[in-house]
Amino acid sequence: MSIVRVALDVPLSTLFDYTVAEGVEVGQRVIVPFGRRQLVGMVMECVATTDVSPERIKPVTQVLHDSAPLSAGLLDLLRFCSDYYRFPIGQTVLSALPVRLRSDKPVISKPILSYRLSASGAALDFETFPKRKVVQRRILLKLAEQPCNLAQLKALSATVGGQLKGLMAEGWVESYSDVHLPSTSSGGCPTKSSMGRTVGDTHKHTFDNAHTLTSEQQLAVDAVTQASGYACFLLHGITGSGKTEVYVHLMHAVLQRGGQVLLLVPEINLTPQLENYFRSRLPDVNLVSLHSGLSEGERLHNWQQAQLGAAQIVLGTRLSVFTEMPKLALLIVDEEHDSSFKQQDGLRYSARDVAIFRANQCGVPIVLGSATPSLESYHNAQNGRYRMLKLTGRALAAASLPKVRSINITQTIMHHGISENLLREIALRIARKEQSLLFINRRGYAPVLMCTGCGWLSGCKHCAGKMVLHLNEQRLRCHHCGYQIRVPQACPSCGNADLHPVGSGTQRVESVLQQRFPDARILRVDRDSTRNKRAWQTMREQIHANEVDILVGTQMLAKGHDFPELTLVGVLNPDSALYSSDFRAPEKLFAQLVQVAGRAGRADKPGEVIIQTAFPDHPLFRALQTHDFEGWAASQLAERKMAGFPPFMFQAMLRAEGKQENEVYRFLNDARAAAVALQHEVEILGVVPAALPRRANHLRAQLLIQAASRKALQQFLRAWQPPLDALPAQKLRCSLDIDPLEF
Ligand code: ADP
Ligand code: ZN
Ligand code: ZN
Repeated sequence: MSIVRVALDVPLSTLFDYTVAEGVEVGQRVIVPFGRRQLVGMVMECVATTDVSPERIKPVTQVLHDSAPLSAGLLDLLRFCSDYYRFPIGQTVLSALPVRLRSDKPVISKPILSYRLSASGAALDFETFPKRKVVQRRILLKLAEQPCNLAQLKALSATVGGQLKGLMAEGWVESYSDVHLPSTSSGGCPTKSSMGRTVGDTHKHTFDNAHTLTSEQQLAVDAVTQASGYACFLLHGITGSGKTEVYVHLMHAVLQRGGQVLLLVPEINLTPQLENYFRSRLPDVNLVSLHSGLSEGERLHNWQQAQLGAAQIVLGTRLSVFTEMPKLALLIVDEEHDSSFKQQDGLRYSARDVAIFRANQCGVPIVLGSATPSLESYHNAQNGRYRMLKLTGRALAAASLPKVRSINITQTIMHHGISENLLREIALRIARKEQSLLFINRRGYAPVLMCTGCGWLSGCKHCAGKMVLHLNEQRLRCHHCGYQIRVPQACPSCGNADLHPVGSGTQRVESVLQQRFPDARILRVDRDSTRNKRAWQTMREQIHANEVDILVGTQMLAKGHDFPELTLVGVLNPDSALYSSDFRAPEKLFAQLVQVAGRAGRADKPGEVIIQTAFPDHPLFRALQTHDFEGWAASQLAERKMAGFPPFMFQAMLRAEGKQENEVYRFLNDARAAAVALQHEVEILGVVPAALPRRANHLRAQLLIQAASRKALQQFLRAWQPPLDALPAQKLRCSLDIDPLEF
């Protein structure tokens, strides 16, 4: 009888001890009694003794053998995350697993068969093997290199299925099931290898090397492939500079040495395009994707492929940073500045930061790619913690950067938020059969409805925010809590029938354009118009087929899409971010505008960007015009340094919300008092209302802690945890957010 310490999906920062009769390994899933329930848990440790008294300790109900155990390396990574983000260990471990592995039902996945040479197959003399049996010969040669599944073999020939049967009938090839492979106890990062050294056997695959790299691309590829052990590279390349091409070459280099590559992207919208790009260049490589668009079965299957080392490339969103990959040899984070890498509930991790930690843990290189690096990463590249790799020119010689100019909206004729000049430019593009894109970061018709009689505004009765007018559906909707009502006929306050929409959203821009250009084909792309799963895919095809003249859209349109006929981008309403209370707002706006501007003129047609603003001389727009990221970043960093903000300070935010204002504030004030009493070297700010002080009838407030170093902050947080846990907070929703991005 031995004792196991088990992580369970409960909000307590401890492990739970159970006895177990059969042999069990660390990293295996078990079902255990917990109170009156049976829960699935993860064996974190096998120990000889326990503090639990013999009468009270209970036995494990069942040891699950349906999936290979997690590796020690991955469990270490999860332990680190639980500690760093101050989140219970059990919830951390279980939330990192595919949903199917969190359930107490054994996983019944269809066995994925792999094929390998039998002893007699391996003894065959390939020299004398009949030459006319081309496909059989290819299969045998491939299997002599490595076992393969059917999908991998299909890349050899369309008739592989029948030929394989023939080879099995001869007894030269045998199949076996992948899922029940013996444990991979070293799975996290066993080889401690760099890309410079060989990981296991060498592997052959087809590489369609379509482009000769530019000299800057080649330098970047060489720097990463020559790195030995951990190194973090910041690949700063302007839009269209060919970062993806650099990734392809790096993947090729890693695969040649038998390693696995993990590539993280911010959004599932981007995965199909990238997937196609990589598949076309590395056609017989086993690439799997991991994102929320997959069914649970597909997700589990892909995860297990990675765990077995069969998937050579894993392309995924945030959560896939926790994918088990025994031969992980390179991590890539594309669009590393994107805030979608940060999880905003539960384990509030930054997938980019966890990826960096993981690369370090495994002793392998990591590449962070972006046209507009986060100031955190850029600062680290400047001070030498990361290595900077630059791509300063566009990859296609013909494609030049777009010309950017501002239009002062206070000195020009405006039509419901669109300037006459911009409308004329659009007309010009329509005449030339080119596409235009109008970018506005607000969906709906107008952000608020106002009464001209008494000044009533369409506030949400549950939130501190305003209800957005959705004219098409005749509704007012709160984008914070989802509450909605019909558009009132008259002012609810004074009865006046004269209600006016104030400001513009995508729907209003669309209708203004429809009036001005009745024959133009206008396509609106925002969360409302793409609710349907296939909608966005269809729209993208329409855009590519040049069946659209004018695109109106939110940031969904800004990222990573290649629209060759697009030559004009109009930015409609960027000014609110310039003077926002969120100190990161200008950084986000700059990144967004560079992305959206990067959509213009990617092929052989020059692009133009027009920004409508009341502040045409603002340094942000100046920097955009001159494509001067360096200058912009330097000025922002100087401001951050003066103001004592990240990356010069490290922050943690304690948030609380509840129905009773006094309870929210009592909790935060008590937490603050406990923090002060610890007398650590940290700056403890005051308790203040959240940016949206009331949401869905809950009052919200927050307390910010800052420290000059990560270490000082972590030491403080560890000391603060026990008094925090002791505070009564039954009726509150509380969370601690380390390195918060939202204020
Ligand atoms: P980024 O991701 O940096 O915005 P992409 O990787 O999408 O840029 O590359 C932009 C375009 O340039 C793509 O169509 C790509 O195929 C092409 N490209 C990239 N590298 C080269 C190269 N060395 N030679 C020719 N074309 C290239
Ligand atoms: Zn009124
Ligand atoms: Zn609301």
